Amino acid sequence: MRQSTLFTKTRKEAPKDEVSKNAQLLIRAGYVHKEMAGVYSFLPLGLRVLNKIVEIIRQEMNTIGGQEMFMTALQDKTNWEKTNRWSDDVVDNWFKTKLKNDTELGLSFTHEEPLTALMSEYVKSYRDLPQYAYQFQTKFRNEARAKSGIMRGREFLMKDLYSFSKNTEEHDAFYERAKQAYINIFERAGIGSKTFVTFASGGSFSKFSHEFQAVTDAGEDLIYIDEEKKIAVNKEVLNDEVLKDLGIDRAKLVEKKAVEVGNIFSLGTKFSEPLGLVYQDENGQTQPVVMGSYGIGPGRLMGTIVEIFGDEKGIAWPESVAPFKIHLVYLPGKELKAKEYAERLYTELTQKGIEVLFDDRDARAGEKFADSDLIGIPYRVVVSDKTLESGKLEMKIRATGETKMLDEAALSAL
Ligand code: ATP
Ligand code: MG
Repeated sequence: MRQSTLFTKTRKEAPKDEVSKNAQLLIRAGYVHKEMAGVYSFLPLGLRVLNKIVEIIRQEMNTIGGQEMFMTALQDKTNWEKTNRWSDDVVDNWFKTKLKNDTELGLSFTHEEPLTALMSEYVKSYRDLPQYAYQFQTKFRNEARAKSGIMRGREFLMKDLYSFSKNTEEHDAFYERAKQAYINIFERAGIGSKTFVTFASGGSFSKFSHEFQAVTDAGEDLIYIDEEKKIAVNKEVLNDEVLKDLGIDRAKLVEKKAVEVGNIFSLGTKFSEPLGLVYQDENGQTQPVVMGSYGIGPGRLMGTIVEIFGDEKGIAWPESVAPFKIHLVYLPGKELKAKEYAERLYTELTQKGIEVLFDDRDARAGEKFADSDLIGIPYRVVVSDKTLESGKLEMKIRATGETKMLDEAALSAL
């Protein structure tokens, strides 16, 4: 992509009311646009990052047998009344609306109810199970505080997978595979070393749920980490009995602020019973389906990456989620040679399938470098009269600041 054609521009300042680092940097660099508190549009650069995160998650969900679908945001209240989750006294973050004839509708904040109801039309016998369905879908939550940028949106994308199993053994086996898939996702997204499988409250059907908590001061949760075991306990469930249960020594735990980037939950028959999701077992007996839910916010993950890898100059994306791999920066000089060289290099790299953002603008070097640091593409390659003379290309690694002199072959092989 040619930077001269991008409609977004970098900015020196973020909106005054924006207090979170992730949104400040993402807005300044032109990744997202703030519509109002907790509501952000993804701009061309931002969508590229979001899509990379989505693709990592999609691959891991497909690997464990997930079938992708896409449900509706508009919700029929009848399903939610059956589980007692329609009332605003029970669920305080609903957005609701009405049809012209006054029928009430909800905007989905999660999808257990409609998917359980939907599955009851397809699942009849033990032969129809297990099933794993997932989607990337917009959720609406009337969050009380929306001060964490894209980490806490009032409208946000969620990957939610739901598992439907015959019994708890089948459920537990899948749950472990899902846990490993989540570990893989955060590793691939570049925050593996900062992310801890965290014991959290499990609701009425299991002792614990598992949160995936990424350590950052921008986090709103407090977790207690056992570095050796690489697990953590959320403050909300920390007590002597739990520690004993998990075989964790209180003295070894380190308190850290963290953000929940993912959450997996055993649901038992909490939804299948009220919504009538049952099947006939091998003996012809009617049994309720055993369920689990598995959520990740791709936008929250993107915001978390910025919190972790953002510095005073801007963002330093991990390569796996960066909008482009190479930022090719041409510096205008006396002659046309550098421009011609950069144009040819851009074409060749692009033809090789390498993702390049080509800064072909006629702007000052200082401005171009500041923009490049802010946008945070992993490798910056400068083409100028000076580099042409040297016969080599100067490549700078955004994350470390390290520079190297390379030839074109080495650049293509990065
Ligand atoms: P929190 O406690 O942080 O509000 P939650 O426990 O309510 O989150 P879940 O219902 O478990 O969130 O949602 C699954 C995943 O969706 C979360 O792990 C998180 O990654 C993401 N998520 C939840 N709320 C938001 C939000 N407001 N904005 C962006 N992502 C979100
Ligand atoms: Mg949660």
